Amino acid sequence: MPHHSRGLKDPKQQSSEQGWLFEVAPPPWEGDAAEEPLAEVVFPSGPEGEWTYLVPARLAGQVEPGRRVLAPMGRGDRLLIGYCVRVEYAVPRGKLKSIRQVLDEVPLVPPKLLALTRWLADRYLCPWAQVLETVVPSAVRQRAGTRLTTLLSVPPDVSARLNDLKLPAAQTRVLRLLAQCPQPLTPRQLAFEAGCTQAPISQLRRKGLIRTEHRRLSRFEPQEVPSPPDAPHALNQYQQAALDLIRQAIQQRRHEVILLHGITGSGKTEVYMHAAAECIRQGRTVLVLVPEIALSTQIIQRFLRRYIGRIAVWHSMLNLTERLYEWERIASGQVDIVIGARSAVFAPLMNLGLVIVDEEQEAAYKQDSFPRYHGRQAAIERARAARCPVVLGSATPSVGSFYNVRRGRATLLTLPARAGHSELPDIRLIDMRRVFKKKNTSTFSPQLLIALKENLERGEQSMVFLNHRGYSQYVQCYRCGESLVCPECSISFKYHKAEDTLKCHICDLRQPMPEACPHCGSKGLMHKGLGTEKVFGQLQRYFKDARIERMDRDTTTRRGEYRRIIKDMEDGAIDILVGTQMIAKGLDFPGVTLVGVVSADSIINLPDFRASERTYQLLTQVAGRAGRGDRPGRVIVQTFTPEHPAIHAACTHDYQKYYDFELEMRKAGRFPPYTRIVNCIISHEDQQQARDLAHLLERLFVAEIEAMNSDRYKGIMGPSEAPFYKLHGKYRWFTGIRGVSLNEILAVVDNAWKKLTPAEQRCVAIDVFPANML
Ligand code: ADP
Ligand code: ZN
Ligand code: ZN
Repeated sequence: MPHHSRGLKDPKQQSSEQGWLFEVAPPPWEGDAAEEPLAEVVFPSGPEGEWTYLVPARLAGQVEPGRRVLAPMGRGDRLLIGYCVRVEYAVPRGKLKSIRQVLDEVPLVPPKLLALTRWLADRYLCPWAQVLETVVPSAVRQRAGTRLTTLLSVPPDVSARLNDLKLPAAQTRVLRLLAQCPQPLTPRQLAFEAGCTQAPISQLRRKGLIRTEHRRLSRFEPQEVPSPPDAPHALNQYQQAALDLIRQAIQQRRHEVILLHGITGSGKTEVYMHAAAECIRQGRTVLVLVPEIALSTQIIQRFLRRYIGRIAVWHSMLNLTERLYEWERIASGQVDIVIGARSAVFAPLMNLGLVIVDEEQEAAYKQDSFPRYHGRQAAIERARAARCPVVLGSATPSVGSFYNVRRGRATLLTLPARAGHSELPDIRLIDMRRVFKKKNTSTFSPQLLIALKENLERGEQSMVFLNHRGYSQYVQCYRCGESLVCPECSISFKYHKAEDTLKCHICDLRQPMPEACPHCGSKGLMHKGLGTEKVFGQLQRYFKDARIERMDRDTTTRRGEYRRIIKDMEDGAIDILVGTQMIAKGLDFPGVTLVGVVSADSIINLPDFRASERTYQLLTQVAGRAGRGDRPGRVIVQTFTPEHPAIHAACTHDYQKYYDFELEMRKAGRFPPYTRIVNCIISHEDQQQARDLAHLLERLFVAEIEAMNSDRYKGIMGPSEAPFYKLHGKYRWFTGIRGVSLNEILAVVDNAWKKLTPAEQRCVAIDVFPANML
């Protein structure tokens, strides 16, 4: 394993449940004069590894884990910024240099988070310092746009006796308003909200009914909380059973991985919210991870409207000031719930009592740039350190999570029925081979068209799902057979009709649609393969009076457009919604009674061992959008391979059978979860060099495996051209290792990598537990 500690104390053991801000270094051994405070420092832009420094007396107490320092490095004693990761009293060995300066007033990373970053560095083979640099937002490092601000809130004991207080009318109004606010307000905000002067506010502050805090705050003002309030549902028996178990684990401060498998519409979100409320009642905080903020507005809105606690929404769209504002609110204990995408797993919450990972199977949890960590895995590790339960929720759990249940590493909770009165929809498979045999080459089967028509007549809503955006998937010349390919990416251009443009969906390169084939000059260019733009146009022609909308990444680029479409769907102002994955997951529109899947086969043939799992999950998710309200739903799935087990299982709601099948396949093929994979992607502008480097790496792997002398299974994958052979102008190869022992294959890859030159290392991306093999 890389980055070995040098026998110093593990920050995990300095566990303190409260107040990492006040953590101090342990006192020296009495009477042992030879021991001195030593600090271990890691450098983001310096040599790898942990470096030991003396702490000069004038900085004693200031140098502590999580704070950054300036320290000399190398022969010239160049001063570098580093993170102090450990402080301990020990006898210095050899001549040590001294820390020069401490840069932060408080630790940027609490001890448990520090331990998490260390775990992440080891697990995903990245230098610790660089992990820290990604975890601590740059805004926090720079303290962008801050000033000291006064914030007002109502203490809980005052809230409790609001009705008994005898106060003048204006003060009563102000106090009630503030008590209802989920977040503290500035005096100016409060006066504005209450429509009053500062006088009643000052009175209340003087009487001690309003709590005042001064904090370094950004200029960012928090956004308003949406209304109307979302009232809790009484839980059904399955939800209640799930809640009971989660509550127990919270109370007993027991770490447990809980897989909440609830069919679509079974009320998982409701369970999350009840569990979160319970956790907050016990005075502890909650972390909720969602796969992608943009696609999770519905669940976030529901949390915000439920008023169970003070919420921070953490996502990549925050600007520097907003990010700092939220970070400081969280770090200073003014937030009960953090909801966010992957990187929210590093939110500096204290006293964590519950972690929730919604849609745990989503590949979006895996970061596809450095450091390539998995948000779900990091969440589990964080919960382990906090000794609290982590709930992995999904209608279609990952095969790996299911396997963990079988191995006794996770507890399974099942919500087998839909909440309320609705039932799972009827799913009908349409064999498109038969449709085509009757010389019907249209996008839609007669069955789907009839169903859409019936739905329109009944005034019910429909969704039509398709995996691709744009108009056509590729443009092909019918004389020479060549298709138009992005010169940077070796991937076919997609045609976008509205702009009459060819676009590369990888690098976003755009070119005008040519008049003639660039290879042979023929005018016969054909559009092949369907995209949402084309399907949308076809539906408009079939159903002239229907209100049809399209939702994909092209139609939602304008800010607020995604929310607008969601709202129109909720209000019943849309009859048919056509869209990509964006409409497939998580959305809850009770009015939708029909879902049409244009082609179930779109991802099943990708060269990835998870292609079948993804197909099963996607189909189950899309189908789950139908019939969530009072009226029953139906689903029509068009496919050329109705016999495929993933498609068949999704349509019969038979998940047991599907997971059994999939696990068998994985076992036979030696794929995860039976093995672990560490993949290396080699990219280079030069084809030959990419190839050579891949082969060099493979030889190094072979040598390391032999040197390891262990008989546990290890197999080398590749070297071969990656399925996406050229991306962004670089040629890509891959080679990797799979094996039963993660530590062994990590060691092999790490050792091999260290034998490369720095220039070669820069061309290699190490991907531990890759989410895709493309
Ligand atoms: P999931 O997240 O499992 O897909 P949701 O939490 O979105 O399901 O719940 C589906 C619908 O059922 C929502 O409209 C929700 O308000 C409603 N619901 C949830 N729990 C209950 C309940 N116990 N009784 C009635 N309706 C419920
Ligand atoms: Zn041609
Ligand atoms: Zn491209």
